[in-house]
Amino acid sequence: MGAIEIELDPLPCRWCQKLIKQPKWWRPKRHCGRSHRVKTRLVNALVRVLEHL
Ligand SMILES: [Zn+2]
Repeated sequence: MGAIEIELDPLPCRWCQKLIKQPKWWRPKRHCGRSHRVKTRLVNALVRVLEHL
């Protein structure tokens, strides 16, 4: 039995297009750092609020 190895291509950050290595295939990273992750969360929250207006 061989170990399952899944190689993922680096994904670009949603905000700055910086390529991010994907160490965890089960949880792909889409943001280069914490600040950009927070930015996405804020935008998503804002979109949700606007949809309910
Ligand atoms: Zn970024």
